[in-house]
Amino acid sequence: MLNESMEQFIREHKEEAFELLRTIGRIPAPSNHEEKRAAFCCQWLKEQGAEGVIIDEALNVVYPAVTRETAGLEVYMAHMDVVFPDKEDLPLTENGDFIFCPGIGDDTACLVCLLMAAKYLARAIKEDRLEEVYPSHLPGLLLVCNSGEEGLGNLKGVRKICEKYGNQISAFCTFDSQLDKLVDQAVGSERFRITVRTQGGHSFNDFGRDNAIEKLAEVISLLYRIPVPENGRTTFNVGQIQGGTSVNTIAQEAHMLYEFRSDRKENLDYMHKQFDAVIEEARAAGIEIQTELLGLRPCSGKIDPGRQAELLGRAVAAVEAVTGMRPRTGSGSTDCNIPMSLGIPSVCAGCYRGGGAHTREEFIEASSLTDGCRVVFHMMFQR
Ligand SMILES: [Zn+2]
Repeated sequence: MLNESMEQFIREHKEEAFELLRTIGRIPAPSNHEEKRAAFCCQWLKEQGAEGVIIDEALNVVYPAVTRETAGLEVYMAHMDVVFPDKEDLPLTENGDFIFCPGIGDDTACLVCLLMAAKYLARAIKEDRLEEVYPSHLPGLLLVCNSGEEGLGNLKGVRKICEKYGNQISAFCTFDSQLDKLVDQAVGSERFRITVRTQGGHSFNDFGRDNAIEKLAEVISLLYRIPVPENGRTTFNVGQIQGGTSVNTIAQEAHMLYEFRSDRKENLDYMHKQFDAVIEEARAAGIEIQTELLGLRPCSGKIDPGRQAELLGRAVAAVEAVTGMRPRTGSGSTDCNIPMSLGIPSVCAGCYRGGGAHTREEFIEASSLTDGCRVVFHMMFQR
C-alpha cells in the first residue's frame, strides 16, 4: 500500500484530478499539433510551483524535477497527443461514473495521474521535504508530458528525450492505457504510403489501358500472400486505399497505407525484405509504383535482463498493491520502443479502467483515476 502522506494527498485532490481531466480532455491535441495541450500543461505545472519546466522543440513539456550528480536518471512520461484530428474542443460528456470523450483514457487519464504526481513532488521540493518523499540515493527524476506517440507522430517526443538524455537514463516508464496491462516488450513497425500511377483515360474510348486501381489491387494481393514467420508475433495490414477520378475514368492514380509489425527484430527485417521483393516484382511487371516511409518504430535492442526484470517487478508490484490484481504483461507499440531500442530498461503501465480507445466513443470510469494516481505514485516514489 501507499504510504499515508501520498494516500492522503491523492484523496484530498481527487476532485481536482477529475476537474483537470475534464479540462485537458477537451483540449484538442492531434499528433504533431499538441501546442494547445502543451501550453496548458506547462502553465499548470508552473502554477503548482514546478521549477524549470519548458516546452522543447518537439512540443514535449519537460519537468526536470530532481537532478542528481550521480546515479542516473529515471524518466516518467504520459503522452498528450490523441489520434483525432480535431482542431476545436473535443466533445466531453458524463453519465454517472462514466466520462466519454475521444482520447479521455488514451492518454489523458494517464497524463492527469502523472501531473498529480508532479504536483506532489513540486510541493515537497518547495516545502523542503524532498528527502522524505524521494531520498537522495535514488536517481534523478525527469517528468515529461510528451508529444507524438500516436500513429504518424512516429514517437517524435520520446525520440527527442532520448536524444537529449539517452546515456543518462537508467530506467524509463511511460503511463499509457489501462490498469490491467503492462508492456515490457517492444513491437516494432514500418508504415508506408504506396502510390501507383498510370496514363489513365476514358473508360469507353481508351478501354484496355492500365488502371491504377486494378494495379494497386494486384500489389495488395501480392502483399497478402506474404507468409508471416511462425516464431513471435508478426502482422501486416492495408489500412486505407484511395484513388481514381470518376466512374467513367480509367484511374490514373491510386494509393494505400500499409504497415507491418513484429515483436522480433529479425522478423521485422524479414518482412522488410518480403515487402521490397513485392515492390520489385510489381516494377518488373511494368507498374509505376512509389513507396514513401511514413513511420518506423524499432524493436528492442539488448537490454540488461536483470535491470529490466527489476523495473518490471516494480511495475507489477505497484499495480498489484493498488488493484489487488496481477497485471498481464506483453508486447506493444508504445513510447518504450525508442528507449528499448537503445538498451534502456523500460516499461509501460496503465492508469484507468474504460474502453473504446482510438474511437470517438472512448470512455473511462472516472473513479478509476484515483487508482491510476496510486499506481503512478507507487511506481515513482515507493521502493
Ligand atoms: Zn496511448
